[in-house]
Amino acid sequence: MKFWRKPLDIDQVKVPHGDVVIIAERCKGCAFCVEYCPKDVLALSKDFNKKGYHPPEVIKSGECVNCNLCEMICPDFAIYCVAVEDDSAA
Ligand code: SF4
Ligand code: SF4
Repeated sequence: MKFWRKPLDIDQVKVPHGDVVIIAERCKGCAFCVEYCPKDVLALSKDFNKKGYHPPEVIKSGECVNCNLCEMICPDFAIYCVAVEDDSAA
């Protein structure tokens, strides 16, 4: 991550990581999660679900910061994120 100034506590901050879980059959392809993910982790896939929509897929594996914004913003409860325990400091 690029900062306009170096945070004073940068050595103590640990960046969280998450695993994204997508429930493809619930998705309606609105792309809210894709547009608003702050780390651009997601993109709409070329696959179709049973409803005929393109569900998202993870395109930047390991970049998710477990902010849960995709989970909060999804109108169909089709995506959520699970925290990954990581001992390495960021
Ligand atoms: S939890 Fe945050 S960083 Fe991870 S995919 Fe969702 S919006 Fe992106
Ligand atoms: S916000 Fe939900 S319904 Fe919209 S594309 Fe993402 S997973 Fe699908």
